[in-house]
Amino acid sequence: MRIVAGVYQIRLPFPQSVPGYTNVYVVEGEKGNILIDCGWDWPGALWAFREGMRNDSLKFQDINWIVITHTHPDHYGLAGKLKELCGARVAMHRLEAELANSRYETSAVLLNEMSEELKKNGVPQDELTDMRDASLWMQKFVSSCQPEIILDEGDKISNGTFEFEVLRTPGHSQGHICLYEPTKKWLFSGDHVLFQTMPHIGLHPQSEDNPLEDYLKSLNNLEAMKTNFIFPGHGPVFNSLKLRTAEILQHHDQRRKNILKVLDGGMKTAYQIAVEIPWKDRSKAGKFNELTSLDRRLAILHVMAHLKLLDSEGELGRIEQEGSYVYLKKS
Ligand SMILES: [Zn+2]
Ligand SMILES: [Zn+2]
Repeated sequence: MRIVAGVYQIRLPFPQSVPGYTNVYVVEGEKGNILIDCGWDWPGALWAFREGMRNDSLKFQDINWIVITHTHPDHYGLAGKLKELCGARVAMHRLEAELANSRYETSAVLLNEMSEELKKNGVPQDELTDMRDASLWMQKFVSSCQPEIILDEGDKISNGTFEFEVLRTPGHSQGHICLYEPTKKWLFSGDHVLFQTMPHIGLHPQSEDNPLEDYLKSLNNLEAMKTNFIFPGHGPVFNSLKLRTAEILQHHDQRRKNILKVLDGGMKTAYQIAVEIPWKDRSKAGKFNELTSLDRRLAILHVMAHLKLLDSEGELGRIEQEGSYVYLKKS
């Protein structure tokens, strides 16, 4: 589907009857086309990609570059196959190239680290295995590949018609990038800013030390940019970056207040806090115990990201008690 002159959006469905889709974009240029992001690796997504290309009379061999905003499976899963089909070169940020290896090639180490972190943050033994393994099914929907082009903040990618600036926007993933086209004032935002959903920010073995602090900083940096259209990785294209940024900031502020309110009742682990605060944003369910094991894990990692930020701001204290981190609010 052509969104504006030179930009086509193709929606690639999620596997396993999971609702939703990934938006991928083809940007036409005199020296070749750029594909921004790939969906999951499963036949339904590949079929949708072929159909989308055919409907807009786009050719696989015209895609010279595949730029990956970050290596989560819904943006990177199909990269290996599309690279082969198009004969394109894959580009991503340096940190994402490093993370992809441990995410998909040597994941046993990552699983152990995840389990240890969850345990230390109060997850009971009988919930631990389920939560640790909650994202294992995703691995079979990724055909990983190494990038030919390593990107860093400030790099430029040109296809002869449009020139994109690489903006590193950490928080959702360490090496997450957005692409900005300054002449048209287009922002391809990956999972950094979405219109309908809140990007997940969690503290986990592969995140930066203080991911929420990094996320809020990179969000503020973007807010000052002039944008005509924001092309996100999921949901509708939109044009009100300022408005959406304000909503995201308000969401995190509310969550912070919820966490501090729970801590008014005494010392708690991240797990105990997650059980007590509302979670309407993660699914239709509002209570922690109604969430899937994956969503419960994401909820705890998200609380941990908030606790880390609050701790770095001097609002909290942390002690280790019987092998678990317990947080208290400073008066
Ligand atoms: Zn993501
Ligand atoms: Zn995504």
